[in-house]
Amino acid sequence: MMMTTTVLNLIDGSFAPARGGATISIYNPATSELVGTAPDSTAHDVEAAVEAATNAFAAWSALAPAQRAAHLHALANLVERDIDTFARAESIDTGKPLALARSVDIPRAIANLRFFADAVCDSHVEQFANEHARSVVHRRALGVAACISPWNLPLYLFTWKIAPALASGCTVVGKPSEITPVTAWMLAQRSIEAGFPRGVLNIVNGRGPLCGAALVAHPRVACITFTGGTVTGETIARTAAPAFKRVALELGGKNPTIVFADAVRSDRLTQTVHGVARAAFTNQGQVCHCGSRILIERSAWETFVPALVERARALRIGDPLDAATDVGSLISLQHVMRVAAAVDGAIRDGGRALCGGSRVDPSLLPAATRAGAFYPPTLIEGLPPSAKANQEEIFGPVATLIPFADEAEAVAIANGTRFGLSASVWTSDPSRAQRIASQLDCGTVWINSWMVRDLRAPIGGMHASGLGREGGREALHFFAEPVVVVTHETPE
Ligand code: NDP
Repeated sequence: MMMTTTVLNLIDGSFAPARGGATISIYNPATSELVGTAPDSTAHDVEAAVEAATNAFAAWSALAPAQRAAHLHALANLVERDIDTFARAESIDTGKPLALARSVDIPRAIANLRFFADAVCDSHVEQFANEHARSVVHRRALGVAACISPWNLPLYLFTWKIAPALASGCTVVGKPSEITPVTAWMLAQRSIEAGFPRGVLNIVNGRGPLCGAALVAHPRVACITFTGGTVTGETIARTAAPAFKRVALELGGKNPTIVFADAVRSDRLTQTVHGVARAAFTNQGQVCHCGSRILIERSAWETFVPALVERARALRIGDPLDAATDVGSLISLQHVMRVAAAVDGAIRDGGRALCGGSRVDPSLLPAATRAGAFYPPTLIEGLPPSAKANQEEIFGPVATLIPFADEAEAVAIANGTRFGLSASVWTSDPSRAQRIASQLDCGTVWINSWMVRDLRAPIGGMHASGLGREGGREALHFFAEPVVVVTHETPE
């Protein structure tokens, strides 16, 4: 019998249940076991958290960047000390393979804390001088930042938001997804151990439309950084607009993976197949950057498609805690139903599933995971670019295969959705890669790779994929208001 976790809110340096006492159950989606409870917070709890963050702001923003950075490094050290505990908790909370949590999610959370701590120390005051005046750009922290993160990469994205906010001098009220609150709770505990001043980092747990909405609407919240679905992003932008709150929205994607024939010649085939499968199925396809539309040059189809199908079938589905597992469980049984409905719709629209296409037979799964939320890697061919499965995000291990004749058609199909988050281009011709990249309407284009990141580079999307950019200088600037002080230079 697994021990259960009681997640609490962190408000003004103390841990507390929701004021009304209500809780939300937390399940391990790979087993459907109850693994804990979290506060079902309301506007009362949000009020207390915002008040604490407001009171802490003057002192925190007045610290030298190096002093704020020292707190972030201390927190990063504690996450690193407990990395195995964090990784296991993340795997149990999300169903993602433990190996992925241990090698990507938690190391990246540590890197986020360290990166923004160092970045704020490295930032310089901009100055411009001409014959009339000297203009100095001071960046003044905005105030209380609301940091709202989703369930797919819980600690990875939570720290991606709170680290630049805190480094810039804002105080924070964070709201993790109600489905995956455990690692943010562990972080809350480590923040006390790291000696964070009270009220600087507050975390409220609860349901999005209740607790999250109250946070977004709170008059003393100066800015909102949000990662999640496009519909929620629209709601947040609408709520924030009348008060002119600054908003950064990282939303969904329907990202193209563009495969040219020169990338599937015998010397490159395996590398391309593995890369494309990784882009489609990492984290069970629940990454906003997953390449869920695979565009294939017609002349490469006969070579590439069977090899990709073979690779998808070879991925091992199973217990996320087993080191040999490639594909863990989806986030919930409800989400499996949503993914299954989207695939059924694609088949009704004329698509053919070349692998996967229906729920995993539980008798094929390890005994402990038979009640889990598993769905197999699925590849669907035969749909026009305008089909729903080629236009709407499914956010599961499902990718469609679309043929193209030439570069112009590839670019037209790639740009032919309402999204614009990212793309990957697979070719052995470097000039073609750059030519295609320059025509794609999205925030990031990977060449012969996927999700390779330099945290100094901005990341984010166009159109329905969001507003603003995170990462590097962009993120630090988001949390601060530039105030220009102009000194008139009088001639001697
Ligand atoms: P949601 O939009 O449902 O939720 C994201 C966060 O917002 C959660 O903490 C949620 O709380 C909260 N929330 C929900 N409704 C409101 C509201 N009205 N006001 C304030 N907060 C609210 O997304 P999911 O958690 O389902 O995440 C999956 C989505 O995130 C996918 O569509 C994916 O594309 C997108 N995503 C985008 C990324 C990007 O960088 N562009 C990265 C990762 C994911 P609760 O969970 O309690 O409902």
